[in-house]
Amino acid sequence: TIYNLGSINIDHVYRLAALPRVGETISSLDHALGLGGKGANQSVAAARAGAQVRHLGAMGTGDDWVLDMLGAAGIDTGAVARLDGVATGHAIILVDAEGENSIILHGGANRALPAGLVTGGLAAIGPGDILMMQNETTLQAEAAAHARAAGARVIYSAAPFEIAALRAVLPHVSILAVNEVEARDTFAAFGEALPIAGLLITRGAKGAEYRDLETGRIWEQPAFRVQAVDTTGAGDCFAGWFAAGLSRGEDIATTLRNASAAAALQVTRKGAGNAMPTRAEVAAFLAQ
Ligand code: ADP
Repeated sequence: TIYNLGSINIDHVYRLAALPRVGETISSLDHALGLGGKGANQSVAAARAGAQVRHLGAMGTGDDWVLDMLGAAGIDTGAVARLDGVATGHAIILVDAEGENSIILHGGANRALPAGLVTGGLAAIGPGDILMMQNETTLQAEAAAHARAAGARVIYSAAPFEIAALRAVLPHVSILAVNEVEARDTFAAFGEALPIAGLLITRGAKGAEYRDLETGRIWEQPAFRVQAVDTTGAGDCFAGWFAAGLSRGEDIATTLRNASAAAALQVTRKGAGNAMPTRAEVAAFLAQ
């Protein structure tokens, strides 16, 4: 099983002729609702990759469609707490005619996880299981320590990047997942000889690389060439597929290739969580 302690967000995307200036009111050209949050994105990606996923997180009391969508992807939402008087995490995304954006992120319930979530949500975790985490919720260090003590592997996406948060979880991390910018920030703060088993670095259209830090072996995976429409959630798609591959016991090369194909497909579609491809879609893409 893949356990994922992570954010659940609702993305509101408003298309505008121009971004509003101070004091200005602007009518939106349209509005799209989508599932977002790095946590939910990764859970959907891993579930569509065929993994059994249990999501640990929190939401407000409304917004049942979000839970329905996670459930429809096959995700176990039994450890998603519903909090009274707290908003479900959401992002207000403004996009102008040139495609430039301004984003307001409200953490809401993601930043108010109940303390019992870790012990309750991870009660059954054990060797062979994986815990995924990102940096959009609370309780990561506690969850990671719990998972490692139970013999599970921990994959941590250091995003949004924060040195203090990374320092707190690093002793419990098995595999660190970062994009190119986060990799640079990580190396600047901690050096390249990290005290973990593996490091996954994604480099957008330039591909990805996995370093086994115990043996020094490096795998390079080029990106597939596609016409990108919306790269939101590409890293989450890659991370979810990567975890699913490891969870199935696939070798690193196969796992990286599948994750790269999945992320390539994901960026050809609008949206984040909604845009995660299925195993059948990835197989068809690779068979082309
Ligand atoms: P993040 O979204 O976390 O910044 P990246 O931008 O590194 O992550 O993207 C993650 C992965 O998604 C890349 O390693 C690559 O496999 C895939 N990807 C991202 N952008 C493109 C693109 N334009 N074309 C093809 N694949 C892409």
